[in-house]
Amino acid sequence: MSPLAIGAHVDQTDPIDEARARGASLVQIFLGDPQSYKGPVVNHPGGAQALREEAEQAGVDLYVHAPYIINVATTNNRIRIPSRKLLQQHVDTAAEIGAKGLVVHGGHVNAADDPEKGFDNWRKAIEATDLKVPVLIENTAGGEHAMARHLDRIARVWEAISTAEGFDRVGFCLDTCHAHAGGNALETVVADVTAITGRIDLVHCNDSRDEFDSGADRHTNCGQGRIDPELLAAVVRDANAPVVLETPGGAAEHTADIAWLRERLG
Ligand SMILES: [Zn+2]
Repeated sequence: MSPLAIGAHVDQTDPIDEARARGASLVQIFLGDPQSYKGPVVNHPGGAQALREEAEQAGVDLYVHAPYIINVATTNNRIRIPSRKLLQQHVDTAAEIGAKGLVVHGGHVNAADDPEKGFDNWRKAIEATDLKVPVLIENTAGGEHAMARHLDRIARVWEAISTAEGFDRVGFCLDTCHAHAGGNALETVVADVTAITGRIDLVHCNDSRDEFDSGADRHTNCGQGRIDPELLAAVVRDANAPVVLETPGGAAEHTADIAWLRERLG
């Protein structure tokens, strides 16, 4: 079996150089401010096309993380409508740079809302979006009204979107910190998620500064948080998908995290 591809979330200006600095064959980037509704931007001096060619030549796979503020599940029109627009814009730009996928958080509904509305809004968002690259729905850590924190909700999202045109372009991104802090047993999470989605396309391998089921989303470097080190490695091994570290620090810290993980993956 070939070794798992492991990389990190990096600055988007020169992601290929960032990949080289980490000895990584994949990197994840934001296309602009993750907290803003402004559309995506490509900072690479040569633009999207140059970045695409550079990545291909270097053999580096690019993944894009959509802005955190995207919430296609919400019943609030003033958030859902711009979220859908921003999602399409990010899919389009991700396609231009040749990205393998666009990671999007599951989002949430408001406290007073019926969660069914959120599941159906996900279905509508998939229907309405031209998925030029796969969209990878990521599990999140906190909140009681989240669409993708607990397994039962993830199952309902999947059930809802399974009837949507474009469903074959939807995948899953499993974040280990979010799973742990969200209260999902890491001992079984790969099997549990796969039983629902049939797939894990990407792993966000992060240790957690907080305890199990805390609902907090604070990543830390591998082996330095509250997740059992062997369990963290086992999740990555069992998921058997490309890995992105979203851990603190730069090239030095990420290189150390990659080495930590490789050592335990065997
Ligand atoms: Zn993540």
